Amino acid sequence: MLRGRVVVTCDTARMTTQPGPPRETSGGHPTSSAAAGTGTRLDPWLSAYAERTHGMRASEIRALFAVANRPEVVSLAGGMPFLEGLPLDDLAELAARVVATRGLQALQYGSGQGDETLREQILDVMRLEGIDAHPDDVVVTTGSQQALDLVTRIFVDPGDVVVAEAPSYVGALGVFRAYQADVVHVPIDADGLDPDALESTLASLAAAGRTVKLLYTVPNFHNPAGVSLSAERRPRVLAIAQRYGVLVVEDNPYGLLGFDSEPRAAIRSLDADGVVYLGSFSKTFAPGYRVGWVVAPHAVREKLVLASESAILCPSNASQLAISTYLSTADWRGQIKVYREQYRERRDAMVSALAEHLPEASWNVPDGGFYTWVRLPQGLDAKDMLPRAVTARVAYVPGTAFYFDGSGADHMRLSFCYPTPERIREGVRRLAGVVAGEREL
Ligand code: PMP
Repeated sequence: MLRGRVVVTCDTARMTTQPGPPRETSGGHPTSSAAAGTGTRLDPWLSAYAERTHGMRASEIRALFAVANRPEVVSLAGGMPFLEGLPLDDLAELAARVVATRGLQALQYGSGQGDETLREQILDVMRLEGIDAHPDDVVVTTGSQQALDLVTRIFVDPGDVVVAEAPSYVGALGVFRAYQADVVHVPIDADGLDPDALESTLASLAAAGRTVKLLYTVPNFHNPAGVSLSAERRPRVLAIAQRYGVLVVEDNPYGLLGFDSEPRAAIRSLDADGVVYLGSFSKTFAPGYRVGWVVAPHAVREKLVLASESAILCPSNASQLAISTYLSTADWRGQIKVYREQYRERRDAMVSALAEHLPEASWNVPDGGFYTWVRLPQGLDAKDMLPRAVTARVAYVPGTAFYFDGSGADHMRLSFCYPTPERIREGVRRLAGVVAGEREL
């Protein structure tokens, strides 16, 4: 029996129902009554979804990514770290040891804030970027992606403004959208976020009576732009945010992956009260354990723990103990050096291939991280071109993914983290062929 009332709109393909449990087909899947006869499965819950889900959309490029993952395609699209240099035998032994010696803890529920020993070890990692914090200031999260979700959840009401770099990390934009924030972008240049543009944006938002809750920034080896906020700009950006009463969210998964430089002092090292800092083991070790963290002022930290407990009760003890054991027994600093060398070699392959094959485009030469941000020759549209690129067996992410309003089609993000240098060169060669074809169209 169908208990939800079917409401057929003028477009029958977008039929909705009043809320109510779905009718079961013989296969056990909910269908609408009209759809049952046609074999088309429509969503009988369409009108029941919360308002906030309207902003949640599948990436337009997800379908192409399924193709991009085929072995014959060189994917310069994803941001997956290259893990083949990890000592997997040692890590297998370490994981087994965790269960053998501390299994009852590893497999049990744990603290909502995260394991205390790990929180102390995280302080050692952050000291490399000049951060002086207390273990109590740290909340362990399921990757820094969950940290982004928690921070947004506790601060952002629908319609609040989040100020973010143009372009910005696509996963952060997705979170802001899910909480119905309005993202206002501020331009960046070779030295990162432009403080003058930040100042004038915040001034005009204040004049318009808008509520600005967060300034979201990736200050090191930006995703997707590859640039870093200069040392000179860091205190200026902070001072401007402070003047307008805006909390800075410093998202820093790549900070230790500089190719030629020592880690820069974090914005959080300049101020403990106005900055929420997000860290992650995903790029400096491995993303599979899904361990990240937040450092936040005391009162904010309490709210973050409550929000995290309501979402997940507690982060995985098994993952936390594995990472904690890795930090205490393995040469994690040495592993980061290995990564830096691997990614530097790949960056070199990327920029030399661009110079050889695509001289009519322009790009930055990142000195750390995973990404090159490429501006296409005039008139070309990276989103429009993507299906033809995938046909030519190369994939990238169009710039449109990194702007809240979908602009940025003249850019693409090329990741050099995962493919080998030879594959990167081959990918750029294929891309150049696609660009040449576009210009003839
Ligand atoms: N922030 C940025 C800027 C990222 O690039 C990523 C991953 N690509 C994340 C956050 C999320 O990382 P994780 O959840 O694996 O820590």
